[in-house]
Amino acid sequence: MDFTHSERAQDLLQRLTQFHEQEVAPAEEPYLRELMDRDDPWVVLPVIEELKAKAKALGLWNLFLPDATLGAGLKNVEYAPLAEQMGRSIIASEISNCSAPDTGNMEVLHLFGSDEQKDRWLTPLLAGEIRSAFCMTEPDVASSDATNMEARATIDGDEVVLDGRKWWSTGIGHPNCEVLIYMALTDPDADRYHRHSMVVVPRDTPGVNVERMLPAMNFLDAPGGHGEVSFTDVRLPVENIIGGPGQAFTIAQARLGPGRVHHCMRLIGLAEMALELACRRGTSRIAFGKPIANLGGNRERIADARIAINQARLLVLQAAWMIDERHPDMLNAVSQIKVAVPNMAQQVIDMAIQLHGGGGMSNDFPLAGAWAVARSLRLADGPDEVHRGVIARLELAKYGAGKWSPPAKG
Ligand SMILES: Cc1cc2nc3c(=O)[nH]c(=O)nc-3n(C[C@H](O)[C@H](O)[C@H](O)COP(=O)(O)OP(=O)(O)OC[C@H]3O[C@@H](n4cnc5c(N)ncnc54)[C@H](O)[C@@H]3O)c2cc1C
Repeated sequence: MDFTHSERAQDLLQRLTQFHEQEVAPAEEPYLRELMDRDDPWVVLPVIEELKAKAKALGLWNLFLPDATLGAGLKNVEYAPLAEQMGRSIIASEISNCSAPDTGNMEVLHLFGSDEQKDRWLTPLLAGEIRSAFCMTEPDVASSDATNMEARATIDGDEVVLDGRKWWSTGIGHPNCEVLIYMALTDPDADRYHRHSMVVVPRDTPGVNVERMLPAMNFLDAPGGHGEVSFTDVRLPVENIIGGPGQAFTIAQARLGPGRVHHCMRLIGLAEMALELACRRGTSRIAFGKPIANLGGNRERIADARIAINQARLLVLQAAWMIDERHPDMLNAVSQIKVAVPNMAQQVIDMAIQLHGGGGMSNDFPLAGAWAVARSLRLADGPDEVHRGVIARLELAKYGAGKWSPPAKG
């Protein structure tokens, strides 16, 4: 494996970094402050649209999409350093039209959508004109086992009828959120992995109601946010089912692999940002006559953070490479990064908060918000334990789970 960035990735990374330093970083803090100070934070402030237009003009747009006609045409391993760079900022992914859940939803529509679904939804999503949400998790059932889902997508003649309640639908609060992908039970008698369907739902369809917005550790994550959404006798043409009835799990597998790599690379960027802030604060603030970095075990903590970030990056690059190569062990690799990276990022950010003292807990620094993001990603897209379960199953299968091998004789 050679993880030297390709020429294309190097060029994009250099231009993206320059754009972030010159345009995005100066705008970010005032933007977030204005949003936090507003009574109504569910708005698109003009600076976001201005920056999006600049990113588009510079070709720093839809970098996530492997299709070279509609997106940048990069492999996962090439996109990884770009996602890391965007992850250093709260707003950079949105500015380049590379933020979740839109990226995953665009991939689903690109790979499995009908021509009509692509015209109506994929085209404006790729243009950054609308946003989207993905509605799978339910308040009433343990959704880490997705086969538990009880919300319905029942076929009734030439219509599909949606009934159920979803929560943690990220992005639903965004004023431009116009389309949802809803995952629900269609045929309870089919086998476990062919009972559920994914349905494209226009946000303004009668019967779709946002019941409340859910703060994640008291962060609203506006203007996208996370909502609890009810679906009551929502009637849509049966053609709104993506890829046909019962295909939800097949589609989800395709959606979640690259999506998890994207999350992990962004988190590495977030951890890098936290380490940089820790070093800057640690060398510029004095306590007991010394820079804080030189007190107690802080130098070791900084060294350990550097080691942990570099280890995690290599693991993610390996997983990205395995997805690109369709390596038979790629799902194992994706589960490994999904456990390793959010835990690493949470610890590094926690160290940076501690080194900042009280300031680290305030909104004067982006660390408290960053910690909440890392903590959330130990749950979102599957809790740690579920991924550890996958890794353990594959590991034990090599040897025959539960069998004891006596020592070889001789
Ligand atoms: C900030 C945020 C954003 C999110 N965005 C979205 C979104 O856009 N769309 C969406 O549909 N969902 C989203 N989610 C939901 C997320 O995917 C679910 O919370 C997650 O899959 C877990 O499901 P659950 O909450 O029902 O937990 P449960 O299934 O009730 O599980 C609770 C706990 O049980 C334990 N557990 C479960 N299974 C096992 C196991 N096999 N072994 C050991 N322990 C186990 C784990 O500790 C787990 O955390 C988001 C969540 C957060 C926090």
